[in-house]
Amino acid sequence: MTEHPELRIAGTPASAGVALGPAVVIEHQEVTVVDSADPKAAFTAAVAEASGELQAMCDAARSAGRAEAGDVLEAQALMARDPMLVDAVNTALADGLSLDAALARVEAEISSLFASIDDPYMAQRAQDVGEVIDWIRRCLTGVDSAASPRVESPSVLVARSVTAADTAVLDPELVLGFVTETGGPTSHVAIIARSLGVAAVVAASGVVESVSTGEEVALDGSTGDVAIRPSETTAADFEARRAVVEAEVAAAERFRGIGVSFRGRPIQVSANVGSHADVARALEARAEGIGLLRTEFLFLDRTEAPSEQEQVGFYSFAGSSFSEPVVVRTFDIGGDKPAPYLELEAEENPFLGVRGARLYSRCPDVFDTQVRAILQAACTGDVQMMLPMVSTVEEVLDLRGRVEQTAERLEAEGVPHAVPPVGIMVEVPSVALTADALAPHVDFFSIGTNDLTQYAMAADRTNGSLDHLQDALHPAVLALCERTVAAARRHNISVSVCGLAAADPLGAAVLTAMGVDKLSVSARFVNLVKSVIDSVDRAEAGPMVEAALSAAAATDVRRIVREALDRA
Ligand code: PEP
Ligand code: MG
Repeated sequence: MTEHPELRIAGTPASAGVALGPAVVIEHQEVTVVDSADPKAAFTAAVAEASGELQAMCDAARSAGRAEAGDVLEAQALMARDPMLVDAVNTALADGLSLDAALARVEAEISSLFASIDDPYMAQRAQDVGEVIDWIRRCLTGVDSAASPRVESPSVLVARSVTAADTAVLDPELVLGFVTETGGPTSHVAIIARSLGVAAVVAASGVVESVSTGEEVALDGSTGDVAIRPSETTAADFEARRAVVEAEVAAAERFRGIGVSFRGRPIQVSANVGSHADVARALEARAEGIGLLRTEFLFLDRTEAPSEQEQVGFYSFAGSSFSEPVVVRTFDIGGDKPAPYLELEAEENPFLGVRGARLYSRCPDVFDTQVRAILQAACTGDVQMMLPMVSTVEEVLDLRGRVEQTAERLEAEGVPHAVPPVGIMVEVPSVALTADALAPHVDFFSIGTNDLTQYAMAADRTNGSLDHLQDALHPAVLALCERTVAAARRHNISVSVCGLAAADPLGAAVLTAMGVDKLSVSARFVNLVKSVIDSVDRAEAGPMVEAALSAAAATDVRRIVREALDRA
């Protein structure tokens, strides 16, 4: 038998961590549906079965504490019986197509509809359609739906793609990492791997053909490096990387539940939350409140806006879960995200269009209902309100006026409420540049480095070919942050950062040194960020910020900050 040599594949990093171990290759069997006498009735029965099975898997995943997998499976259970899908298949059958052809046509149509929307969330929905229709096919043919990968000892899973259902039945203790041939950083496997804290690399082209079950695989989920049948030297390199990651994680764990400060000033590290499951994760990480509660998940993927009661319920639940502030951001929906009841017009440039706060005058009832809910929840905890995508003082004055009117109405109705602090996202350069003019009208600033970077660099954040322009540590973006922080100081209001730069160790370091009061990051980074803040306290922070601000490029900033931390 000939020994195959080592093979290196460059994939896309999807979940940080380093793994080495034997591969288990998952092969998904293709299923072809053969028409029965009554394909419509067979389809109706399969829809009910698929939806029921997916819901049962969701319940099982949730009771096993696997919230992320549960969320994805619940979305899939709903999608299986969604009239958009069911009606489209029945129409195709009425057009004379076989059931197999009808399913293929609808899968192609709906996936390309979602995929054409340049948004990572929608890319995920496109993947859901494929997985849901495949599940229906399996119900129709009786092929075992839960043909789960057999993993009996700690292994690296290799597959063309890993479905949400696959991950739900896996024993996380036995999964060292995932390598998939398809998918992006927002695919299910990436999301679920991150929630399990295991390494994942996606878009590793050719991996399935290159490895057999039992052969060694090494992967680095931060760089996207994959080594198949690693040589001794390569294996030692990956072992060394794994030791570094483990030491970092252990250091970060030391900070669980412990407050950190910079130059004697406490720096809060709170969580970004976008679902019920995220609240649980934030509590688990002992996050200091919620710095950004993205409410979009309540508004998208449904035919009517969420009711006042539903919103009061969720905001109160979040608010009463923490003793620190819970910052509820009013819905940040734009022309690129479908919410049929908002009747959004198609736009040439959705990111420069009617999104965030710009939308509220087009749907005053939806906005007012959300404000009523936030004001009611403000009685139950330190619930605060934040407005996204603001660009002028006039918008702030107008929206604050509407908050006051809402409070008056609640008062007149005798509904218990409180007027919470109202802050704004600083994510449009005009706001950073006029922060001094805005500060007197708001209670806090929160810098959204994701959008601030896309607008400062004029680079669409969803356009993968512009990734090189998306570094929030570019001196231009840092200059906008610095200006915002200085204005907040002058006006004595707090300033936080809730974009991804806050979770990047070098970003957390330079922003802390710049003087922000709070960093808000996804739960898994909370303690890592605290360990970074602790080391900045020992670094020469002032000269580091000065050098970063006068650097020419993001790579220079990264080098400057890394060197300052290494000296600390
Ligand atoms: C940001 O823009 O940095 C931000 C936190 O908001 P979102 O990513 O939700 O646009
Ligand atoms: Mg934003």
